[in-house]
Amino acid sequence: MWDMKEFAEAAGATVDELGAYVDDSQHGVPPVLRRRPPRELADKLGLARWIREGGMTPEAYRHFLRDYLDEGTRLHHPAYLGHQTAAPYFPAALADFVHGAINNPMAIYEMGASAATVEFEVLRWMLATVGFGETGGGVLTHGGSLANLTALLAARAHVAPDAWTDGVPGDLVLLAPPSAHYSVTRAAAILGMGEKAVLPLDVDGLGRIDVAALPAALDRARRLGRRVMAVVAGACATSSGLYDDLRGIGEVCARHGVWLHVDGAHGASALLSERHRHLLDGIELADSVIWDAHKMLRTAGLAAAVLTRRESDLDAAFRQQASYLFYGDQGFDLVGRTVECTKAGLGLKIFLNLAWLGEKGMGDFVARQYDTAHRFWELGRDRPGFDFPYEPETNIVCFRYGTADQAAVRERLMDDGSFHLTSAEIGGVRHLRVTVMAPATDDTTLEALLTKIAEA
Ligand SMILES: *Cc1c(COP(=O)(O)O)cnc(C)c1O
Repeated sequence: MWDMKEFAEAAGATVDELGAYVDDSQHGVPPVLRRRPPRELADKLGLARWIREGGMTPEAYRHFLRDYLDEGTRLHHPAYLGHQTAAPYFPAALADFVHGAINNPMAIYEMGASAATVEFEVLRWMLATVGFGETGGGVLTHGGSLANLTALLAARAHVAPDAWTDGVPGDLVLLAPPSAHYSVTRAAAILGMGEKAVLPLDVDGLGRIDVAALPAALDRARRLGRRVMAVVAGACATSSGLYDDLRGIGEVCARHGVWLHVDGAHGASALLSERHRHLLDGIELADSVIWDAHKMLRTAGLAAAVLTRRESDLDAAFRQQASYLFYGDQGFDLVGRTVECTKAGLGLKIFLNLAWLGEKGMGDFVARQYDTAHRFWELGRDRPGFDFPYEPETNIVCFRYGTADQAAVRERLMDDGSFHLTSAEIGGVRHLRVTVMAPATDDTTLEALLTKIAEA
């Protein structure tokens, strides 16, 4: 059993150390990351000895945690401009702590009534925000990749209802822009269609779906005797941060009776910002949408929503008995809508952030991050040697400096721990890529980055 004194001491040490860690990080104490080799790190942390001998105490744990944090990557750091992973807000962190202690796998209502009810209310809010309203269905799942798989499973059930029992017909195809996240191609492979069943849509020079060419692509598939299971659109694309024209695509799909799946893993959160909502105009025309909370809703990984316009579509995905009555006397079991059997109470971390900030506050955060990335573009385009292929729409910006090997520039900055950034291909050319995730990133950070890149 828990020794309450020991628990309180260890938890107190956690709060102290995390507090100092986040505070240092937010103030930009370098480095933003360390890259110590794993063998050396295992020694430094004494991992093998702890595993063999045990005996950790709150005091020893405090020192262990300090080293552990120090050797990791600081997402709260202003110079963290890397992958699209949130610098979590503390209410969401508290929710992870609570889940870690109570472990209510709430996909079955009897295993966590409060966790299940919180998830359900969060989903109702997300469905309303997307424009699916009362007739939509949803579930939270462990990440966007699983969410894409689940949504495409619903699309498959819609087009080929017997695939679940009889196997996958060979004529199904998925139409997606080459810029689609790799989890889409993976989903096709996992669903038994094969990667080759993902046909690339025509795109413009920046990787956005060419809406005018979409009807011809649908006709082409038909002439080849293939059935289009879904068209996948990006909101936004992972690499560029640019949104596809959802209304244009949605109207073509509706005319052709084709399922539209919108991958809003990163960019659906812009629905909360009045100034940015227009980027997702037409999202309500989609049949399914995914939306990650651990990107722009400031929770830790993983928490993603699968949302369908018609609730029955989601229930059909796994061929489960359709709708348990929400708010019926027995509650509701979400297990019929997920790959997972034991599922964490993911709703609480989204809920607590909202409870602290409200949807307006959350929207202001998204707007602030998008605006900061736009500032980077404004600051950078006037500097000699920098080339920005487009004006950013989100908190993701791609650019090149000079004719140097861009990946080598990135390595240089990562090695000295000054900045964490990524790279991406735009129009087949390698670019540096900045994603503004931390609330601490400001103009000073961005000016310093531009200077540093030019030096490197
Ligand atoms: C991040 C991302 C995913 C994958 O989500 P995970 O939560 O990392 O599994 C899918 N699609 C897009 C557009 C993304 O940005």
